[in-house]
Amino acid sequence: MINLVIVGSIGLDDIKTPFGKISSTLGGSAVYSALSASFFEKPGVVGIVGRDMPQEELKALKNIDLSGISKGEKTFRWEGKYEYDMNEAKTLKTELNCLSNFNPSLPNSYKNAKYLLLANIDPDSQIKALNQLKNEPFVILDSMNFWIKNKKEKLVSAIKKSDLVLLNDGEARQLFNTPNLIKAGRKLLELGPQYAVIKKGEHGALLFSYDSFFSAPGYPLEELKDPTGAGDSFAGGLIGYLAKHNKTDEKTIRQGIIFGSAIASFCAEALSTKALLKIKISDIKERYEVFQKIREF
Ligand code: AMP
Repeated sequence: MINLVIVGSIGLDDIKTPFGKISSTLGGSAVYSALSASFFEKPGVVGIVGRDMPQEELKALKNIDLSGISKGEKTFRWEGKYEYDMNEAKTLKTELNCLSNFNPSLPNSYKNAKYLLLANIDPDSQIKALNQLKNEPFVILDSMNFWIKNKKEKLVSAIKKSDLVLLNDGEARQLFNTPNLIKAGRKLLELGPQYAVIKKGEHGALLFSYDSFFSAPGYPLEELKDPTGAGDSFAGGLIGYLAKHNKTDEKTIRQGIIFGSAIASFCAEALSTKALLKIKISDIKERYEVFQKIREF
């Protein structure tokens, strides 16, 4: 039985940063977040790939259940580029291919899961997946500028059904048309979720609830090579940690945010998924302790 389900994109990415480039590499929100969650709990991934997805790419995904991945014609492709300010990716190309009209179908062994990550994907697919779960799971939702621009109404309906919503700073400003992140955090909560998290790239993350506020620092990273997937890794680490401890109280969420931030910092140190495939839980715990020291005063 799978207790943590992750729905998201699985794709082939072309990435260019000032420090390197890589083409047709395995990426997508479900891939990064499942790799990250798998340090804590075996996730079941729901997504779709085309015939052009090399089989050996998916074999690299250890401690992840892949039985929820269906087959389509052509794999989703994304091309992105970063300038010296690596906080924001410039999307050069998005080819949805088999992601457009993706109708997720969850295996029976996923339907009683208590934790669900609706990673960045078409909000229609997020809602269709959510509706198949039987026991009111704890739902974390992530999204991006592409869906805010193209499917805002559907995205807002999906946010209303989630317990914790994650956006980065630029996306939160875009969704509510405000430069003020505190206002944007409050507006996210007004839509219904119990918690809202605004990620600020290398500058950390903010957690909002109705009666509290938490600010997580960014990890002082010296080797920043490719932030692709850092946001997804953050989300995967957070939900993996909650699933492992089977708790969703604010203290556990704060700890999960720090674990998510630690994994995201590793993700950004190497191109694509390379760092996530290499690190161990002991590396992540070491960084968690650095975060604890940074916060002392
Ligand atoms: P992040 O850097 O965490 O925001 O996520 C990067 C990943 O998002 C890449 O691996 C892309 O394949 C994936 N991605 C880019 N655009 C989209 C989109 N419109 N829908 C779903 N996934 C996307």
